[in-house]
Amino acid sequence: MIDTHCHLTFPEFADRVSETLHAAAQAGVTGVITISTTPGDAQAALRIARAHDRVWSSAGIHPLYSDKGPFDWDLLRSIAGDERCVGWGELGLDKHYAEPTLALQREVLDRQLDLIAQERASGRVIKPVVIHCREAFDELVPLLGRSGIPGEAFVFHCFTGTAADMRLLLDLGACVSFTGVLTYTNAAEVREAARLVPAGRVMVETDAPFLPPEPVRKKRPCVPAYVRHTAEALAAARGMTFEAMHDELNETTARFFGVR
Ligand SMILES: [Zn+2]
Repeated sequence: MIDTHCHLTFPEFADRVSETLHAAAQAGVTGVITISTTPGDAQAALRIARAHDRVWSSAGIHPLYSDKGPFDWDLLRSIAGDERCVGWGELGLDKHYAEPTLALQREVLDRQLDLIAQERASGRVIKPVVIHCREAFDELVPLLGRSGIPGEAFVFHCFTGTAADMRLLLDLGACVSFTGVLTYTNAAEVREAARLVPAGRVMVETDAPFLPPEPVRKKRPCVPAYVRHTAEALAAARGMTFEAMHDELNETTARFFGVR
């Protein structure tokens, strides 16, 4: 399977990318998408993707990095067009922290959604969009609905909301992705929400170096190899065998990101 969301550009993986990928492959995790948080980080992510066969990257500005501007928008646009870059993001809204302000997050989000919609309309870059949404479903989902980008192009990564939040994103037409949070004993609500997702609209990820799943929750850093634990928990939550879940995850990742 593929870890659809991790951060190989983070310091935890400096000089360790090859061994991290090797360990992942030995655990059956045959590829990763390394997700970016700023245009400069997107450039670093693309460099890693170009250096490794089974790594792909993304191009976007994380809401919690909205205050790291000014941003090089032309750089972001040109990276998004690269064949090794398989999506936009991560972008969205995060109301868990007071800073950066929601106004600033909105400004950076709106600019990215405009750029993505323009690129799609012109036929230049038509790629999926990785959404970071924390405690902001009521505000973000309608914004995405009005963006001119089809709902099916979005994946809400690291879902930690309620069943009601899940219904909002499913009604939009989006996909959803789960991290190790799904495996935590106190996350019954997240597992309940995971049962609502129709087949073909769910993916898994580590968000490494963060959020190691059970039973390796105490290990640091989280690594792509661990995504298998989350897939096992997802299969259990959805009442499926691991094999059936595994096949479905691979099909969905191939359809959504174009990688398998
Ligand atoms: Zn992330």
